[in-house]
Amino acid sequence: MQNEKICSSCGIRLTGNGITFFKCPNCGQYEVGRCYNCRDQSVKYVCKKCGFTGP
Ligand SMILES: [Zn+2]
Ligand SMILES: [Zn+2]
Repeated sequence: MQNEKICSSCGIRLTGNGITFFKCPNCGQYEVGRCYNCRDQSVKYVCKKCGFTGP
């Protein structure tokens, strides 16, 4: 699948429970995805559009 969602922090495919998506708070264009693990541990993510880094 081409539009498969991946975790922006660790890069695993996002399926099942505990995953979350949100728009980049800086540019509002890039959709950040996070797996349960990265959300739980507040791993940083990087926006691929503007380079914004957030917890
Ligand atoms: Zn992850
Ligand atoms: Zn951004």
